[in-house]
Amino acid sequence: METGTVFPQLPESQAKRAPEGDGGKGSVDGDTMSRSPFAGLVSYLRASWLSGKTRPMEYRVAQLEALGRFLDDNKQQILDATASDLGKAPFETELSEILLCKNELHETLNNLSRWMKDEKVDRTLAMQLDSAFIRKDPYGVVLIIAPWNYPIQLFLVPLIGAIAAGNCVIVKPSEVSKKTERLVAEALPSYLDKDCFAVVTGGVQETTRLLENKFDYIFFTGSPSVGRIVMTAAAKHLTPVTLELGGKNPCYVSDTCDVTNVARRVAWGRFFNAGQTCIAPDYLLCTLEMQEKLLPALQKAINDFYGPNPRESPDFGRIVSDKQFQRVQRLLSSGRVAIGGQTDEAERYIAPTVLVDVQPSDPIMQEEVFGPILPIVIIANVDEAIDFINSRERPLAVYAFSSDDKVVNQVLERTSSGGFCGNDTLMHVTLPSLPFGGIGNSGLGTHHGKFSFDTFSHPRGCLKRGMGRESLNAPRYPPYSQRKFGLIQATSKVTRRSDCTLL
Ligand code: NAD
Repeated sequence: METGTVFPQLPESQAKRAPEGDGGKGSVDGDTMSRSPFAGLVSYLRASWLSGKTRPMEYRVAQLEALGRFLDDNKQQILDATASDLGKAPFETELSEILLCKNELHETLNNLSRWMKDEKVDRTLAMQLDSAFIRKDPYGVVLIIAPWNYPIQLFLVPLIGAIAAGNCVIVKPSEVSKKTERLVAEALPSYLDKDCFAVVTGGVQETTRLLENKFDYIFFTGSPSVGRIVMTAAAKHLTPVTLELGGKNPCYVSDTCDVTNVARRVAWGRFFNAGQTCIAPDYLLCTLEMQEKLLPALQKAINDFYGPNPRESPDFGRIVSDKQFQRVQRLLSSGRVAIGGQTDEAERYIAPTVLVDVQPSDPIMQEEVFGPILPIVIIANVDEAIDFINSRERPLAVYAFSSDDKVVNQVLERTSSGGFCGNDTLMHVTLPSLPFGGIGNSGLGTHHGKFSFDTFSHPRGCLKRGMGRESLNAPRYPPYSQRKFGLIQATSKVTRRSDCTLL
């Protein structure tokens, strides 16, 4: 499969169509766009969007239901592709790539008519005869750029939101998860309306050319460094963005907790998908005493999950590429290996590993691990853990384990992160009723469920007035007078309620 290919392929005449707008006259953007190999595609999709085709609810529902059929019809191919790309166990793929997407789809289909409704808003006395509402307007042509670690879920869940909100979409899957990229490019377009949805394949070069075009919204999932590149490209067109990024997610374990349960929940979150999860607990923060209790419990959890030799377990994945393997393997030199540590380059296998004696200055504490290695950093108490977290970039998730709810609350209240989960890992992401997204270095904006719909909808503030009753407008016209201002004040003022709103 050639990279930079558009699926479905456009008719020659459409593919060469000049972009709309200034058509390349005068602005640098226009000039760049007219040369972009994707300008014709973006222009074609914008024309479809402007035709109003994507607006009716029936159209959106039909496309969403087609996404459901894509998942059902291609289930085996998805299992095979993710097994080939990431050594993913069928169970993990069914859970994270299929069930999660189906849940999002059903949540959206169940609520779409309600979400789409105009939202009536409060009116001042002067506008009691008018109609004031928020219209959930689609943005137009949306670009969704996805990473490789959950190669179906991470384009499909945003795509559900973008379709539900009435947009046309270009999906750019990751070139790193090659088999899944090919499956998505070849199979998905036959389920969707070809006038409104397309898949573009390729890596840095193709995505760079794609980003030269003016989109109406860009939804990017990937690393903070590429997030900056995407936001810079978007800024040239003042295109709004959602950035779902990564980082290091701290996991605090207090001295009072059920060590066996903590070990199982942490090991599952860290070693699921061979650690290649943006919200995986990236490192543990605990006292030396707790570390001594946790090590045998973590060893037991790993044994229970993957047997004595995880390499032979059908449930333990592999690193996605040689480049990623070499990066993760280098991190093993930080601290001391307490559990695991074995590697096999030919298979891109890295055993579930726990590192101790890790210093904050060690290489593993400078970047997102994104592999099956769990470093433990020793702290004296919860205050030191909180200071440690707050002195670093704001993470995508913070985890806190304690039998004492006050301690969990303390970590929740005194830290800042995209999401939070007390006494477990990863599970907060499975609820479509919760927003999912980062803050600061871990991202910008949210999605999942209604939050996806809102992300891809512009809240258009609308006021509709009658043509008559001109006498009611008279006070606002010149010549101005104190009396007229008094009338306006009396009918338009928002008065401060006297009751205390702090309670
Ligand atoms: P990445 O940033 O390297 O790539 C993501 C996408 O951007 C790919 O489609 C890629 O083709 C494209 N891309 C890469 N370099 C580019 C460039 N220079 N210009 C334009 N486009 C470019 O990320 P990745 O390695 O695929 O994924 C891993 C990262 O994604 C981790 O940091 C992880 O935490 C993060 N992630 C975040 C979430 C989330 O929901 N917040 C989910 C999964 C992964």
